Amino acid sequence: MTLARVVPDELLEAGPAVRKLTVGVPVGRVLVGGGAPVVVQSMTNTDTADIPATVRQVAALARAGSEIVRITVDRDESAAAVPHIHEKLLAMGIDVPMVGDFHYIGHKLLADHPACAEALAKYRINPGNVGFGDKKDRQFAAIVETAIRHDKPVRIGANWGSLDSDLLTRLMDENAKLPKPAEARAVTREALVRSALLSAALAEEIGLGRDRIILSAKVSAVQDLIAVYSELSRRSDYALHLGLTEAGMGSKGIVASTAAMGVVLQAGIGDTIRVSLTPEPNGDRTREVQVAQEILQTMGLRTFVPLVAACPGCGRTTSTVFQELAQSVQDMIRERMPVWKQSYPGVEALNVAVMGCIVNGPGESKHADIGISLPGTGETPSAPVFIDGKKAVTLRGPNIQQEFRALVEDYVEKRYGVGATAGAEQADAAE
Ligand code: SF4
Repeated sequence: MTLARVVPDELLEAGPAVRKLTVGVPVGRVLVGGGAPVVVQSMTNTDTADIPATVRQVAALARAGSEIVRITVDRDESAAAVPHIHEKLLAMGIDVPMVGDFHYIGHKLLADHPACAEALAKYRINPGNVGFGDKKDRQFAAIVETAIRHDKPVRIGANWGSLDSDLLTRLMDENAKLPKPAEARAVTREALVRSALLSAALAEEIGLGRDRIILSAKVSAVQDLIAVYSELSRRSDYALHLGLTEAGMGSKGIVASTAAMGVVLQAGIGDTIRVSLTPEPNGDRTREVQVAQEILQTMGLRTFVPLVAACPGCGRTTSTVFQELAQSVQDMIRERMPVWKQSYPGVEALNVAVMGCIVNGPGESKHADIGISLPGTGETPSAPVFIDGKKAVTLRGPNIQQEFRALVEDYVEKRYGVGATAGAEQADAAE
């Protein structure tokens, strides 16, 4: 009997979506779209005019894995600061493309601060607030012309909260005259999609290449995001920036962003993502980068950092040893990754399991590269460790946490170290 006969087609075919091929856009040294891996980006929340604070935060975001970082450019002082921020980051060895976020006066800031226009790797403009009345097209054209002069891409980022009011009013009026008018929400979605596409067409007319245009149409509700991006992708092949705007704080923001972007990414749509989390007061801004990476990694679209598979715990393990170990191993991996990445190529694909008791512990641990099954309540106080599917050692006593961490470190060195690669190559050659 062949595998195809016993396994339903749905299971055979399940896997990451085939990505829609969009036009590739270089943002500094990072390619967005054009078949490139989905890019993680983030945004600072410092006052850009505060150069030291902005340099610190851009550096932290880049070190956390943000491949592009957006900064607010809202006034002369911010625009004047941009080239200094860029220089200081380069001096620190951080060459992350920076995107300038412009509203209302972007045309003026870019014209008055050519060093800012040059230092930025991309300009983000919102067609809903680039200007009003007869100034709108003129100011939009001025920004696009600056982008052409400096050979920079532009993200045309429409937003539900600042939608082009003329366009929305026109579509609402047209809709009202129809025999069966659509719901206002559907008209608003259409206005958002059209705002982005019409602005992109206008930018092309002015002379900006398709390979210099990225589109986004951000909304704050999950179903709207899925509908709007499905439409944008159906009607164009521009590179798309995905993100739920005003996603919110804590688990609400993470769940909403994951639900919305997960559906869209699984349909093969999206070339770069940003998770717009509202940080807790004095919270860590890099959390949004971590969440974006985890969305892409758990969907099988990219691999950034080894993830620890841990059971949720239940009444069979009432001690906190298991949660503490899972947290400690995940923290250790995040801390060690900057060094591991340099010395151990491929380490980001490592699988580690931390399980709470004998029910699923040994089985799940055997599937990981290295896994530990802790003793549940009433079980013998020993913790078998499985390496590459085989029981390697059993840990006992008060130092299980430290000993397991040491085993993980040792495994990484042996499996991904230079000697290990050379050994594997020799073994391959000998076969
Ligand atoms: S592995 Fe054990 S402790 Fe963990 S959830 Fe399953 S039964 Fe509960």
